[in-house]
Amino acid sequence: MSCDSKNFKKSALNYTEACRYLVGGVNSPVRAYRGVDTKPLFIASAKGSKIYDIDGNEFIDYVGSWGTAILGHAHPKVLKAINDAVKKGTSFGAPTAAETELAKKIIAAFKSIEKLRLVSSGTEAVMTAIRLARGYTGRDLIVKMAGCYHGHSDSLLATAGSGLAEQAMPSSAGVPEPIAKLTVVIPYNNIEAVKTALKKFNGQVAAVLVEPVAANMGVIPPADGYLQALRNLCDENKALLIFDEVITGFRIAAGGAQQLFNIEADITCLGKVIGAGLPLAAFGARADIMDMLAPVGKVYQAGTLSGNPIATAAANAALDLLIKNDCFKQLEATSASLESSLARAAGQANIPITINRVGSIMSCFFTDKPVRNLEDVQATNIGQFKKFFSKMLQQGIYLAPSAYEAIFVSFAHTTEDIEKTTKAAQKAFLSLKND
Ligand SMILES: *Cc1c(COP(=O)(O)O)cnc(C)c1O
Repeated sequence: MSCDSKNFKKSALNYTEACRYLVGGVNSPVRAYRGVDTKPLFIASAKGSKIYDIDGNEFIDYVGSWGTAILGHAHPKVLKAINDAVKKGTSFGAPTAAETELAKKIIAAFKSIEKLRLVSSGTEAVMTAIRLARGYTGRDLIVKMAGCYHGHSDSLLATAGSGLAEQAMPSSAGVPEPIAKLTVVIPYNNIEAVKTALKKFNGQVAAVLVEPVAANMGVIPPADGYLQALRNLCDENKALLIFDEVITGFRIAAGGAQQLFNIEADITCLGKVIGAGLPLAAFGARADIMDMLAPVGKVYQAGTLSGNPIATAAANAALDLLIKNDCFKQLEATSASLESSLARAAGQANIPITINRVGSIMSCFFTDKPVRNLEDVQATNIGQFKKFFSKMLQQGIYLAPSAYEAIFVSFAHTTEDIEKTTKAAQKAFLSLKND
């Protein structure tokens, strides 16, 4: 392992240049590294568990393109599928057999899905899922949990009002208040808040939307019985339960959180992993719900690049690899070993941390308290996270540049990777202690 002096000169120069032409130098905000008070790395390439910047530095990558690279970067079978598809043309705007093949695989993995629609991003999947829920129920309100991220559609850029279950305020400029008000934002892992919301807005809630394992405020598993209680409350109130499994689908199990916790959602949103690094996402549900969608039903949705042949080929290849029996056991073992070594390293340095992990997603929170919702995350020591991030980066470990993002473990991470990461973490925790 190299010493503590990586050179990021070319990245810095490119960033300066990029800032003149791209807003903030990036095409998605978290990439700007503002969450860690530094400048972003510019990437040259990635392969397996490693990512390489344009200064020639090698890193063990725990971002994995925000979870899309569960097989590791540039998996040969995925690349071959992409290459084969490219030769036949890049987009037809007409149906292909490969889309049906992909739908069959997803439907086989999710008991709750009978029909599917392919789209190009997680944002689009969730945006349409709530439109579908509104069309199906004839109701307008959506209940959402604070700290859960569902993409950047207007209705979901909403933040809690002052009470326990109030109509929300916009969390972004440009979102009209009347639109934010159609969303009710309540704390995650809080059943009483769901009950309050459904009672207060009796007969008006189209859907309760949740990340069944929250992974966009760091990783927060559902409390015991939480998902089942959501299921029951939705049934009692005739609201639909939407699981945003854009991160968890085909990651914490082939059938996502629904398989792991044995709960069925009404509508499921998928993205990230299923696209294998290409722009592909999906939402699916029972046939009677999905048949509300155009061209069969009256809820409109369309996409020029939906089911794009290259993205679909990559997805088919990736899912074939992921669906194989028992493949998630290896990932669980690697992830468990990373969790226990991080815990040990922090313990040795006397740095209090709380690790939340579900399968191959985890978070190392700088706190000695349990982390169960957004408020708990906000109370952690974010300053310590920033220092930890920098110390790890200097030692060749690429963590997400924000305390609110997960550590993503992939099939490509080796025992050697975990050992190197552990050594780096030992040093990083010790240096925090001495700060
Ligand atoms: C990333 C993410 C989205 C948005 O997906 P994009 O492809 O970035 O639009 C939605 N929901 C969850 C849970 C996500 O993690």
